[in-house]
Amino acid sequence: MKVDSRRNFIKNVGLFSTALVVAPLVSCGKRVNGSSSGDHDSIPPAPTGNEHFFQTRGAILAWEDITSLDWPMLASQAGLTTLSVHTSDTNMQSAAFKKFLLDCQGFNIAVEYEQHAMAELLPRSLFARQPELFRMDEKGNRTDDFNCCPSSTEALEIIARNARERALKQQPTTGRYYFWLDDGGKKCHCPDCKEWEDSDQALVIENRIVRELKELDPRNSLAHLAYQSTMKAPKAIKPEPGIFLEYAPFFRSWSRPLADRNAKREGMTITHGEYIDHLAANLSVFPKDTAQVLEYWLDVSLFSDWKKPAVKLPWNRDVFLSDIDTYAKMGIRHITTFAVYIDGAYEKAHKDLSFIKEYGNGLLNYQG
Ligand SMILES: [Zn+2]
Repeated sequence: MKVDSRRNFIKNVGLFSTALVVAPLVSCGKRVNGSSSGDHDSIPPAPTGNEHFFQTRGAILAWEDITSLDWPMLASQAGLTTLSVHTSDTNMQSAAFKKFLLDCQGFNIAVEYEQHAMAELLPRSLFARQPELFRMDEKGNRTDDFNCCPSSTEALEIIARNARERALKQQPTTGRYYFWLDDGGKKCHCPDCKEWEDSDQALVIENRIVRELKELDPRNSLAHLAYQSTMKAPKAIKPEPGIFLEYAPFFRSWSRPLADRNAKREGMTITHGEYIDHLAANLSVFPKDTAQVLEYWLDVSLFSDWKKPAVKLPWNRDVFLSDIDTYAKMGIRHITTFAVYIDGAYEKAHKDLSFIKEYGNGLLNYQG
């Protein structure tokens, strides 16, 4: 489960696509964001299922998953509220994707888009002429390997403008946007940025983006991804209204519950106790009611080291049930998991998909 493997996987599924689509999308669900809807009073808040403790019960998928398996049906049967998709602009214009959106609409399943976006929001082709837009490494050299210089007003303006373009073309039915920084990305060490932690630098960028998104619709929101280098809570920068925490404990063990403070994944240094402490610190900075967990309980791609053929999911229902109780007691009401590689080939090879229902029903029936 190497970070490099994951980065290559993400490239392969097209998350760094730079071509922007212009065709209007078929909107899924009841909510339609953006300046074109014109009827905001009729748009209900999202996600649905608010009578349950866990208001968001989601799965994050890749293109092959949604085109080779009937995920809208599976999600509906499991009581999920939300499917999130990794996809490319080209795929989004296909008949298969429009069918997926319509099927989700039929089952009242919300659709979101989650992906690392910085390479698109600040095109690396700008580096040759404007290196000052990009981060400075520890040696004082500007580099276009990751992210940007958050102290560059011009970089933030370009990022915000491209985020607006992306938001108009890839509209979640919930108004919740996910423009993640580069996977495994590093921070800027320029004189103006160096005192900021990675999480602070991320928040500077996100605060600028969310202002842009709120011009499209004041109810739009944007995730701050606490993950790898951004796992620590921000210290110097405060989130603007509309920023919500997305907490992804990527290096944890899934064979032991998060509540086991001494547990850690083989080869990793961070313990579950440290992960819990990071979550608590983040929840003192970000609103609790919108904070969301991004887990990996169903992430066959992770357990397969992002290489097919996919291994059988090492589903551990007891760990999952313990974890959601831990999250619930910390005030989390929104839970999602990667479920990448759960596709037609997985079903053919391993037959059993009952863990999808156990996941969804575990969330659906949680009593608090
Ligand atoms: Zn900088």
